[in-house]
Amino acid sequence: MYPAPFNYHRPQSLEAAIGLLSRYGDDASIMAGGQSLIPMLKMRVGEMTELIDIRKLSDLDHIEQRGQTLHIGALATHARIASAEVANQIPLLRECGGGIADRQVRNMGTIGGGVSVADPSGDWPTGLAVLDAQLLLTGLSGTRLVSISDFIVDAYTTCLESCELVTEIQIPVPPAGSGSAYVAFKRAAPAYPTASAGIQLTVKDNICTAARLALGAAAPVAVVCRDAEALLLGKEITTELLESAAEAIVAVAEPPPDARGSEAFKRAMLRKLVVEAGQRALGRCRGEDVSGAHHYA
Ligand SMILES: Cc1cc2nc3c(=O)[nH]c(=O)nc-3n(C[C@H](O)[C@H](O)[C@H](O)COP(=O)(O)OP(=O)(O)OC[C@H]3O[C@@H](n4cnc5c(N)ncnc54)[C@H](O)[C@@H]3O)c2cc1C
Repeated sequence: MYPAPFNYHRPQSLEAAIGLLSRYGDDASIMAGGQSLIPMLKMRVGEMTELIDIRKLSDLDHIEQRGQTLHIGALATHARIASAEVANQIPLLRECGGGIADRQVRNMGTIGGGVSVADPSGDWPTGLAVLDAQLLLTGLSGTRLVSISDFIVDAYTTCLESCELVTEIQIPVPPAGSGSAYVAFKRAAPAYPTASAGIQLTVKDNICTAARLALGAAAPVAVVCRDAEALLLGKEITTELLESAAEAIVAVAEPPPDARGSEAFKRAMLRKLVVEAGQRALGRCRGEDVSGAHHYA
């Protein structure tokens, strides 16, 4: 189906984009990579008469480390993030961005769009929950910084106010001795995950000093569980310990039974993915060259 007619705007500055949002209100929609918006328009989901294409805002596509914080512009594409130098330091970025759909989608789709869609199965919301990311939102009254957990309030729902845009994602650079991983089970490459798990560990003298875990496609929003993380702290990480943490976090998940699988299947898959991600992350904490891919049905 063709989209309903709309007016096309291509602002040359962030201020102009915000001005257009404020002028047209609910009649307007931002387009970044268009990889979710265009299919929705073609299906005639939602009403919009003014399309504001922000792809020309070149100051929103940076990927740079300043001090101990990684700054990623909202327009940085999945592909650029996955192949960025910093993805060697934070491999979760490579596995999250590099596993999204196919090359065409990764070359067009952006991290800002990926979080703004707030799809429960989306890869970035889960990955960024593991990395304790904060989002810089810019609107008529200036900027505000919100955590990823405050940003996504429910399935397909964010705390973005009208006239507000995601302009940057900020990620604390993990200390030495850290390792991260993100593993998903997908029916096919251009399909959202059936289940996914991400983890970041920091290990000093063989003892875990920090741990972050998150599950995707397992509830309306990314599932985090501080009790599961606490099981890993102060201990030497073993497969048995990872299994206990997996059990604890999957216990608080609510994976919906659907065409992708039953609830029991998804719980079993999530447990397996947590352990696998944990083993990969642990190897990386030890400085091992650990490669890994997602699983496809
Ligand atoms: C075949 C296919 C398979 C896919 N598979 C996956 C997958 O496995 N995993 C996955 O995570 N994603 C998947 N996607 C979605 C893809 O990652 C999209 O790129 C992403 O969800 C949206 O990014 P975008 O830049 O294209 O945003 P757009 O499509 O341009 O916008 C999407 C929504 O976000 C809003 N928006 C965009 N940028 C901003 C911003 N900076 N601030 C505020 N609002 C903004 C728009 O207004 C719109 O409502 C798939 C898409 C396709 C077409």
